[in-house]
Amino acid sequence: MSDCIFCEIVAGKIPATVVLETAEVLAFRDVSPQAPTHVLIIPREHYDNLTSLVTHNPELAAKVFTAASDVAVLEGLEGGYRVVSNIGDDGGQSVDHMHLHVLGGRSLTWPPG
Ligand code: AMP
Repeated sequence: MSDCIFCEIVAGKIPATVVLETAEVLAFRDVSPQAPTHVLIIPREHYDNLTSLVTHNPELAAKVFTAASDVAVLEGLEGGYRVVSNIGDDGGQSVDHMHLHVLGGRSLTWPPG
């Protein structure tokens, strides 16, 4: 999709620090980390948000969640971690390409703001 920063990362037009990649999924470090580990998991194919992905391609959604768990293992987050997907304006979504945040490496507070 044009004008999508994450599609440009998938296309290699914008650099990213990739921590895991498969044929269908990419995981890279967030440019503005909110925890010692802050990795974004995205489907290579563009979907606007989690609801769109689950509705149109549930098999790919499962692969995105599997990659989030795999990243947690790779990053050594044995103490626990958090998976977040912000959706829409009320959810605080700023990039309209579905992604999971994997956050860990410190004790995380609850509830989020
Ligand atoms: P959200 O606000 O939930 O849509 O999350 C979007 C995330 O993308 C934010 O945490 C940003 O810091 C992150 N982000 C934006 N641009 C880039 C980029 N070029 N590389 C890595 N992370 C990015």
